Amino acid sequence: MVNLNRVIKDIETLSSFNATPENGVTRLSFTKEDKMAREYIREQMKNAGLKVWEDGYSNLFGRREGKDPDAPVIMIGSHFDSVINGGAFDGVAGLVAALEVLRVFEEKNIETYYPIEVVAMNDEEGVRFGTGVSNSRAMVGLMDEEELDRVMDRDGVSLRKAMENFGITPDLKNAKRPEGSIKAFIELHIEQGPILEDNDKDIGLVETIVGLDRYDVKIKGKSGHAGTTPMNNRQDALVIASKLILSVNRIAKEVGDGTVGTVGEIQVSPNASNVIPGHVEFSVDVRSTKEENIKRVYDEFLKEIDNIKEEEDIDIEITKSLYVPPVNMSEEIIDTMEKISNRLGYKYMRMNSGAGHDAMNMAKIAETSMIFVPSKNGLSHHPDEWTDYEDLKKGIEVMLNTVLELR
Ligand SMILES: [Zn+2]
Repeated sequence: MVNLNRVIKDIETLSSFNATPENGVTRLSFTKEDKMAREYIREQMKNAGLKVWEDGYSNLFGRREGKDPDAPVIMIGSHFDSVINGGAFDGVAGLVAALEVLRVFEEKNIETYYPIEVVAMNDEEGVRFGTGVSNSRAMVGLMDEEELDRVMDRDGVSLRKAMENFGITPDLKNAKRPEGSIKAFIELHIEQGPILEDNDKDIGLVETIVGLDRYDVKIKGKSGHAGTTPMNNRQDALVIASKLILSVNRIAKEVGDGTVGTVGEIQVSPNASNVIPGHVEFSVDVRSTKEENIKRVYDEFLKEIDNIKEEEDIDIEITKSLYVPPVNMSEEIIDTMEKISNRLGYKYMRMNSGAGHDAMNMAKIAETSMIFVPSKNGLSHHPDEWTDYEDLKKGIEVMLNTVLELR
């Protein structure tokens, strides 16, 4: 029932609203490109017979009534902002999938019990304001007025000011959806990893969105002349940092169970070839589907720090900068999707999402699930990001049938 030509046209058109046409897709929130994409999406929603409006954050909705107008809604959709020099599918694939589902319903006069809303979100990547998943945070009440004034883009424009310049009066009370008003939230997304392709699967049914623990480590040693300071009389912060960085890698492997640990950012000071590093700061990023694993990595890491402190006279400080717990998707909806995938003859697998998505916020107020479609070579956030349209079509068919079968 899915018309792939419409889907392809949507994806190609949306990728033309782009600040870097020669180098991937760049569409940041509350920009000219956001406005152009939004106009196109609004037009598509109207053409599908939907009632269209924006909430007090900037979420764009298109609604189709069900048999019971007072029943909670099934919400489907995704984001249409991108990273800088990103691809044409991240986010957009899920939004276009949702649009296509409702176009099919309109075309075939399919009636549903629940009302259905397509949501188009514009601030998931959070590139412009250094935040992220803002639209869904607004919907579930995890954003406050203070943030609108606090976060700034590179030009010093606050989120509130950017929204006002864009023509939206921020009204977070209006954006918050009451608990019980959303029956289910379903988001299709590109996998952004190689697992489906490696396993020759069409569809990924997400069981858990992994949790994330991030901490900053500061090591204060003593800088000194690289030539005149004897080896046994040094407090080399980078040598200590190296031990700790290796320990992150080792501990994550020891904890296992899919746990990953990464040191991706480091500052060395004074960072000169002939000076002993006196000060080092680095980040630690730990992810797992289980909270207990995340905690174990942290505890083991603290032990490692204690061990080093016993041997060396050096100051090590650790501060937590971000914690997002793992979020489980709806077992019931996964089961439904599994049956549908079997019936349609699609090769599927259950898997986890190593990246965060708006779905993890929506899960706070609604039964939530995600459908992954394969990413060619596991690539995303890259100009060469690609998903075969036939694969995307299968994902849309699963979504369409799930919406029809939800009870
Ligand atoms: Zn995305």
